[in-house]
Amino acid sequence: MSTGNINVAVENIFPLIKKFLYSDHEIFLRELISNATDATLKIKHLTQIGEAKVEYGSPIIEVKINKEDKTLHIIDQGIGMTQEEVEKYINQIAFSGAEEFLSKYKDKAKDSGIIGHFGLGFYSAFMVARQVEIVTKSFTDAPAVRWVCDGSPEYTIEPAEKTERGTEIILHIAEDSEEFLEESRIRELLLKYNKFMPIPIKFGTKTEMKKTGEGDEAKEEEIKVDNIINNPNPAWTKQPSELKDEDYKSFYRELYPMQFEEPLFNIHLNVDYPFNLTGILYFPKLSQDLNIQKDRIQLYQNQVFVTSNVEGIVPEFLTMLRGVIDSPDIPLNVSRSYLQADGNVKKISGYITRKVADKLQSLFNETREDFEQKWNDIKLVIEYGMLTDDKFYEKAQNFALYPTVDGKYYTLEELKEATKTLQTDKDDKLVLLYASNAETQHSYVEAAQEKGYTVLLLDSPLNSHFVQKIESSNEKLTFARVDSDHLDNLIKKEENTSSKLSQEEQEALKPIIESQVPKNYTVQLESLDSTAAPFIITQPEFMRRMKEMSATGGGMFGMSNMPEMYNLVVNTNHELVSSIAETKTKAKQERLVRQAIDLARLSQNLLKGEELTKFIQRSFELIK
Ligand code: ADP
Repeated sequence: MSTGNINVAVENIFPLIKKFLYSDHEIFLRELISNATDATLKIKHLTQIGEAKVEYGSPIIEVKINKEDKTLHIIDQGIGMTQEEVEKYINQIAFSGAEEFLSKYKDKAKDSGIIGHFGLGFYSAFMVARQVEIVTKSFTDAPAVRWVCDGSPEYTIEPAEKTERGTEIILHIAEDSEEFLEESRIRELLLKYNKFMPIPIKFGTKTEMKKTGEGDEAKEEEIKVDNIINNPNPAWTKQPSELKDEDYKSFYRELYPMQFEEPLFNIHLNVDYPFNLTGILYFPKLSQDLNIQKDRIQLYQNQVFVTSNVEGIVPEFLTMLRGVIDSPDIPLNVSRSYLQADGNVKKISGYITRKVADKLQSLFNETREDFEQKWNDIKLVIEYGMLTDDKFYEKAQNFALYPTVDGKYYTLEELKEATKTLQTDKDDKLVLLYASNAETQHSYVEAAQEKGYTVLLLDSPLNSHFVQKIESSNEKLTFARVDSDHLDNLIKKEENTSSKLSQEEQEALKPIIESQVPKNYTVQLESLDSTAAPFIITQPEFMRRMKEMSATGGGMFGMSNMPEMYNLVVNTNHELVSSIAETKTKAKQERLVRQAIDLARLSQNLLKGEELTKFIQRSFELIK
């Protein structure tokens, strides 16, 4: 046996590692399995190019717990190491690598979670072990060796018994890390980090039923087989041409076993220039809540799980999607802010955006009906993308849909064409009417439809931001909610009727009405069509929209505390209004106006509390 001293400047980097990477202790297993995988892939390569005169066979990696000895074993059938190689790769490279890593990142370690994710390699074993043994046999004729070290610069190295090619890492688990001797904990880690690694990983055994014998002799027998924890050939590593729709769906179930809803469609990513990236993204059915759906895309590097926080790598609006991205070209041992400034990462983000837009465009072109049916489930992502990403906005204009209250779907261009004759206002602007809730705005929707207008149903939580954005890039177009003040502009223009009430009658009536409306109401006398309602409540489109935008957009313009503003539009062509004007006493006029206003408010759900109670009492009196 020989002993030696590892030549490192830091006396004992073991406590340092524990300190700086405290929250990420569990990654040691991923690091060791990555090394075992690399060692196996190396021997595969050497046999393929004829450099190693051994059979590659079908190697696996085994993870074993020995509770009695308090050890955890990671065993591979890879390339192995000779004594010289252990001295070089472990004593020099692994240790100096760890040292360098620490000196570089110890100050930044708190900066973001991602730093702890990569770069420490073999040495991370000392985060959980008081002593580490390596028993290894090179694929060459060199004898096996055993290396033992407790994390200090001292180590021992001696001949070992091992006859099979490969490496066994034995971790003598430290007292404060005994959770890593629990089968359930190790299984959890293997499933988290190694579920799709390219070499089969065995963890324990399982029983399977096997049929033996023929005919009368046939019987079922229980047999023990290796329990392989991973899928070494996940769908994203294959070519799109090899995969059917069902394969994509079953891979989705593999990724999200607790998810029962099927994805709407998928996008296979596959580039090798100017960066390497593969992956599959899925559009899930989204609810209206913008916040709960993030952190579902998993980031891998060469089939090793890294993180499910892809912020900065995937554009914000696409973090609502699910799936896998695998790229060796994403620098991970850097902070988030650095990541976002990285040229490669920017390109990756741009590429993903383009692929998603192209996929949506081809679904729109090729299967429009299906696309329309899925629209409600995907519109949130698309509208969010159009609001936050100019490149996406440009592409999405061609496939973004505008549904009507009765289930038709138009693109903006189609909509302009369909509405231009009826819905152009006196300033020659196209007024696109929409409801944000077909139920509560029912009477307005009906009134607009009676006029032959097209009424859209725009009910997403981003809707006021969205229509604002569309208006800003389409000069001759304005959106108006069905209950807004723009509606009467349209009606007036079209009807152009003269009023039944004379000017004097109107002047006499107006102050009476004004005395009966709440403070935040403005009274407008308009000569509308005689079939339109006598009293209509509208809201200024602009004010309402600004209020809504500041509610969803983080207090923008400080508008969210503004009181609601309403208009009371009185239709001077309606019979009821004429008969109120002709009523003899002022007191009776006031009573009628009061009742009519309350009815108009009631129809908009604006009559509440004491006012509502009084209204009901008055109404009962009336019909007594
Ligand atoms: P990295 O893997 O980033 O090179 P590590 O510290 O994890 O750094 O490992 C240092 C070196 O030790 C590896 O490059 C490899 O040559 C060698 N090594 C580690 N684990 C194994 C193993 N299981 N089989 C063979 N060689 C190994």
